[in-house]
Amino acid sequence: MAKVLVVGAGPVGLTCAIELVRQKHDVIIIEQNATREHISKAIGINAKTLQLLEASDVSPRLVAAGIPIQKVHLHYSPQKEICINLKKLPSRYNFMLSLPQDKTEEILEHRLNELGIKVQRETQLKQLHQSNDKVTATIETVGKTQEITVDFLVGADGAHSIVRKQLGQEFVGVTYPERWNLADVRMDWKYDAKDGHGFITAPGLIGVVLPIGPDRYRLVANHPNALDILPKPYNIHEIIWQSDFSINCRVVKNYQVGRVFLAGDAAHIHTPVGGRGMNLGMEDVCVLARLLTEGGWENYNKLRHPIGKKVVHMTSQFYNVFALKNPLAIKLRNCILFPLMRLPFVQKKQVKEIVGL
Ligand SMILES: Cc1cc2nc3c(=O)[nH]c(=O)nc-3n(C[C@H](O)[C@H](O)[C@H](O)COP(=O)(O)OP(=O)(O)OC[C@H]3O[C@@H](n4cnc5c(N)ncnc54)[C@H](O)[C@@H]3O)c2cc1C
Repeated sequence: MAKVLVVGAGPVGLTCAIELVRQKHDVIIIEQNATREHISKAIGINAKTLQLLEASDVSPRLVAAGIPIQKVHLHYSPQKEICINLKKLPSRYNFMLSLPQDKTEEILEHRLNELGIKVQRETQLKQLHQSNDKVTATIETVGKTQEITVDFLVGADGAHSIVRKQLGQEFVGVTYPERWNLADVRMDWKYDAKDGHGFITAPGLIGVVLPIGPDRYRLVANHPNALDILPKPYNIHEIIWQSDFSINCRVVKNYQVGRVFLAGDAAHIHTPVGGRGMNLGMEDVCVLARLLTEGGWENYNKLRHPIGKKVVHMTSQFYNVFALKNPLAIKLRNCILFPLMRLPFVQKKQVKEIVGL
């Protein structure tokens, strides 16, 4: 079995370490931060991810902690909506699980600890070199530098990945000009608290509201204040967290150079439409762990790069359609495309694509 260094203990690095340990590899996982972040960035866990995490016994723990969302309503005018029904998904996880990312990471790290591995915190990858059969990494723990030699290295070190930079890999794509805003709030409003809702409130303006706890919701919008996209009446009791972010759509040219692999945000980033980001990364490392165990790791890029590219393209297309500004294009979308999405076979195909099945 192989000795593997995983760089980064976000959801993707933690999943990678669990899968590798479970398949009897010798794993070191390092993380530059002293503690886990307590912010709830990604909140949607999809059916594909839950299927993949069954083998490590993580899925039941996630499901027990989260909220299953079975219906998502897309309100594209004050009177018109499409209801996307996830109940019909061909999976026993026929829902999108809503769980804040910090809770997902807590569950993953707890499982990793049960499997006998601790995250080496305050430890940063500085440099890496590789030969035909080894990778040597220079790491620094609170001012102390050391070199470690492993068979493989996985860069799960996020969008600003040092592993990607050390490999000299271009992150090909674009940055969208507009700022997005998210807010976690406690509120009551007129809609069903179990369902997700998307709103196109004005040409080019979109927002999403998802339940994340009792009376607690995540609002996201391509607008300076996510609260402004809420249709009245509503009653906000508390704004728990509010933050701005910008959107990049990028895929790395190669997911792999020799014995060094990229996964998660280090390899691909895209719009939050469809909630694939974290899920796609967790999927990357489940596939990689299997290739390292069963053989065929040389094919990791060939297998995962086209999927990453397709998802980045698909989520950009969804965003472009939802955020149309041209009045004629909006008319065509509302009169032809959206009604088509009500047809069961069209909806089934799209939903399967969105959740990665
Ligand atoms: C507002 C927002 C909402 C989102 N919503 C969703 C959603 O609903 N669904 C979804 O699927 N995705 C969503 N995403 C995306 C999701 O948060 C990311 O895709 C996910 O965090 C990627 O996980 P990761 O492990 O690849 O990277 P990260 O979570 O960025 O983790 C990388 C880790 O590597 C560490 N690190 C970096 N450099 C080094 C180094 N040199 N040495 C050691 N450690 C290092 C970092 O400290 C970090 O802990 C959202 C993102 C944002 C910002």
